[in-house]
Amino acid sequence: MSTTAMTLLADYRIPDFLIEKTHLTFELHEGYTDVSSQLSMVRNPKGDQAAHAVLHGEQLELLALAINDRALQPTDYQCTAHTLTIYNVEERFVLHCKTRIYPEKNTALEGLYRSSGMYCTQCEAEGFRKITYYLDRPDVMSEFDTIIIADEGAFSVMLSNGNCLSDRIENGKRIVHWHDPFKKPSYLFALVSGNLSCLEDRFVTQSGRDVLLQIYTEAKDQDKCDFAMQSLKNAMRWDEEVYGREYDLDRFMIVAVDDFNMGVMENKGLNIFNTSCVLAHPKSTTDAAFQRVESVVAHEYFHNWSGNRVTCRDWFQLSLKEGLTVYRDEEFSAAMNSCAVKRIEDASFMRSVQFVEDAGPMAHPVRPESYLEISNFYTMTIYEKGAEVVRMLANILGPKDYRKGTDLYFSRFDGQAVTCDDFVACMEEVSAKDLRQFRLWYAQAGTPQLHISDSYDVARQQYRLNVRQSTPPTAGQAVKQALHIPLKLALYGKQGAQTLIIEGVNYGMETVIDISQAEQTLVFDNISEKPVPSLLRGFSAPVKVHYDYQLAQLQQLALLDSDGFCRWDAMQGLMRNVLNARIEGGDHTAAQVVLIATLKQLLERFSTMDAALLACLLTLPSEQYLASFYDAANPAVIGQERAALHYHIAVELQAQWQHCYDALAGNVQGLSAEAMAARSLRNTALSYLLDMDSAQYRSMAMQQFAQADNMTNQFAALKALVHAEHAQLEAKQALQAFYQQWQHDALVVNMWLQVQATRPWGDTLLLVHELLQHAAFDGSNPNKLRAVIAAFAQQNFIQFHRADGAAYQFLAEQIADIDQRNPQIAARLLTPLTHWQQFVAPHGALMRAALASLTERQLSKDVYEVVSKSLTVN
Ligand SMILES: [Zn+2]
Repeated sequence: MSTTAMTLLADYRIPDFLIEKTHLTFELHEGYTDVSSQLSMVRNPKGDQAAHAVLHGEQLELLALAINDRALQPTDYQCTAHTLTIYNVEERFVLHCKTRIYPEKNTALEGLYRSSGMYCTQCEAEGFRKITYYLDRPDVMSEFDTIIIADEGAFSVMLSNGNCLSDRIENGKRIVHWHDPFKKPSYLFALVSGNLSCLEDRFVTQSGRDVLLQIYTEAKDQDKCDFAMQSLKNAMRWDEEVYGREYDLDRFMIVAVDDFNMGVMENKGLNIFNTSCVLAHPKSTTDAAFQRVESVVAHEYFHNWSGNRVTCRDWFQLSLKEGLTVYRDEEFSAAMNSCAVKRIEDASFMRSVQFVEDAGPMAHPVRPESYLEISNFYTMTIYEKGAEVVRMLANILGPKDYRKGTDLYFSRFDGQAVTCDDFVACMEEVSAKDLRQFRLWYAQAGTPQLHISDSYDVARQQYRLNVRQSTPPTAGQAVKQALHIPLKLALYGKQGAQTLIIEGVNYGMETVIDISQAEQTLVFDNISEKPVPSLLRGFSAPVKVHYDYQLAQLQQLALLDSDGFCRWDAMQGLMRNVLNARIEGGDHTAAQVVLIATLKQLLERFSTMDAALLACLLTLPSEQYLASFYDAANPAVIGQERAALHYHIAVELQAQWQHCYDALAGNVQGLSAEAMAARSLRNTALSYLLDMDSAQYRSMAMQQFAQADNMTNQFAALKALVHAEHAQLEAKQALQAFYQQWQHDALVVNMWLQVQATRPWGDTLLLVHELLQHAAFDGSNPNKLRAVIAAFAQQNFIQFHRADGAAYQFLAEQIADIDQRNPQIAARLLTPLTHWQQFVAPHGALMRAALASLTERQLSKDVYEVVSKSLTVN
C-alpha cells in the first residue's frame, strides 16, 4: 500500500507567490500535447518572503524553463515527482515553461485527456498540475489567456474559458485565442477540442446585456438539448430575481461529454457536463432524469457566483461553494416543481445516505480538518449536509436578512478566495444574530439526535415538550457539544393546528424553536386537549428525531398534516412500525392493520391530492434506511420482510391499485408537472400490482411497455417486469425489445444495464458477470461502471448482501482492477463495503475481509484512504 502525508487544515499558509497573469498555449498533436505557459509571478506581500518559488506539477515532461527569457540552468531549479522549485527568484518575474503531456494515455480522466477523439479537461480539485507547473491551489487566482493550436480542419470547435478574441488559420494550423477577464483559480480552467454540434440561444440579463448561450454535443444528440437550454434560461432569470446575480461574460457554454468522472464541472464560462446530466428527450429520458438535468444545469450555472466569482480559500472550505450552491439549486427546483415533493426527496436522501455516511468510518465535518486525497471529500456531507446548514441559516435569518447577507458576501468577497467562516460572518453582520454556537455545524461531525417527550396538564391547559439533544461520537471526535438546532413545529388537535402561545407570546400555528441547550423544556399555554406534535416540519434541521408516537397519532399526521415532509415522515413511521416488528419477530398485526387502513384512505382520495406527493407517501422505506436503525442489521431478514410487506400491501389494496392505475390512464401524456405526477403515482400502482403472480398484470405491464410514448412509462413497465420473478418470460422479451430499440443511445443502454443489475431475485451476481462481458459494457466509461457495478452494490441490497459474501469479494476485485485506471471512480465504488460494522455476522466479517483483501494490492491514494479508514474503525 502507498503511504502519503495527510493534509491538515491547521497547516494552511497563505501562498508565498501570486500569479497575476497566466498565458497558456496548447499545441494539440496526435499522441501528445505541448503546453507553453507564461506566468507573471509576484512575491505575495503578505507571505513569508520565501526565496524559492515552489510550483505543483505531476506526470509532466519538462521541455524548457526560463525566467524573463533567460533559460534556466539545472542548478537553478529542482524537479521532483510533485513539485518544481526555482531557487532565488526576484520580487517579480515571468516564468516561461514548456511541458509535454499525453492526453491519449490519460485514463484517470484528470487534467487534459482525450476520449473518443475529443480533448477535454477536468481540473477540480488538483488536475491542473497534470497540465503544467503551477500554483495549483484555489487561493491563487489569476487572469487567464489561452491559445489553442491544432491542424486546420482537425476539430470543429476549440474552446476555453471566457470570451473568444480571435479564430484564424495560419500555415495549415487553426489558432483560437480565448481570454477570461475574471480572475480564477486553476481548478476552473477548461479546454475542449472536438467535432461537436451546437445549439444556440440568447439571454438578455436584467441590466440589458445580451449573452450568447451554447450547448455543444455530438451531432446525434443535438435534438436532446432543448430542455437543458430552457432550464439554463430559467436558472439565469431565477438567480437574478432571487439573489440579484447577473451573468458576466459575453457567452456561456455547456459541453456534454460521455467519459466524465464527475457529474459536471462549473469551469468559468465553459461548463463540462456528463451527457447524463444534460441530454433529455421525452422518448428516451425519464421524468426523474428530466428533473435532474434541470437541477444540475442550474447548479452549475449558480456556481458562476457561488464558487467562481467568490471561491474557496482551500479545499477544506469546499462546502462554502458546494453547500451554498446545492441549497440554491434545491430552492430553484422547488420553485419549478412541487415544493413538498422536492423537500421529501432531499430529506429522504439525507436520511438514507448522508446519515449513514455520518455514522460510518468516513464521517467528517462539513468543514473537514484533514484529508489524504481531496477527491474523496466530494461527499454527501460536504454537499447535502452543507446545503442543510445554509438552509438553517436562511431560516434563522428569514428571507430579508438572508438576502442582505448573501449580497454582502458576494460584494465583499468578489474576486477572492474565502472561508466558510467568512460566509457565516456576513450572515451575523447583517442580522446582528449571535451565530457562534451555530458555527459548530461546520466543525462537528455526526448526526445530532433529538429525544423528545411530552406531558399535558388538563387543569392548567398546559402542554410541555422536553427536548434533549446529543450527537454520537465519530472518528477523532469523542465528545460533542450542544448545537444550535432550529426545530420547526406545530401542534395538532382534533380540530387541526393549535395556536402556539409561549410565555404569553402568540406564535401562530407554526413556529421555529431555537434548540441550543443539551436539554430544554418548552411550555405551551391555552392548549385545550393533548395535542399531536408535528415535529421538524419541512425537515428544518438535519437531525434524527425520536418521539414515541402512537399509531393513531401517526395516522392523523399522515392524513391531515399540512406539512408535506411531516406527512411523509408519519407514513414512514407507520411503515417502520410494521417493518421493525416483522424484522424483530414481534407482533406486527395491529400496526399493519392501521397502516393498511391509512394507505386505503389515501388511495381513495387520489383524485383530490397532489399525485406526486401521494406517490411518495405510498413508497416503503428503502432497505438501506431500515438497516441504519440496527447495530447489527441482518440484511436477509430486512430484505425478506420489506418484500413481504410490499406484497401484503399489494394484495390488500389490489382493487384500489387497479382503480388508480385505470383512472390515471388518460393523464399520463406530455411533460407538464401534472402528467409527471400522474405517471409517478400510476407507476407506483403498477409496481405493487406486479408483486402478484397474475397473467393479467403481466400483460398489462407488457401493454404499457409496448404502447408507451415516453421513457418514464416504458422503463417503469420494464423494471416492474424484470424485478418480478414470476414475469421471467415477459421480462426476457421486453429486455430484448428494449435493447433492440435503444442500442444506439448510450444513456438508455445504461438504464438497460442498470435494471438488470438491480434485479432482486435469482443469481444476479452471475447476471452482472454476464453484463460485464456484454458488447454494450465498457469498463473505461464511468457511466457504464456506475450502471452495472455501482447499481448492483448500492441499489441491490438483497443480492449484494448474499450470504456467501461472493458479491463483496466481487466488488473488491472490481475496485482493485478499476483503481489501476481510474482511482477516483474506484474510491467511490468502495462505499458499500465501508459500512461493514453495521451488519450482523457473517456479513460484517465477510465485508471486512473483502476490504482487507485490497490491502494486499498496490493502491492509489484515493482507495488507500477509504480502505485504511474503514478498517481502523472497530
Ligand atoms: Zn457544485
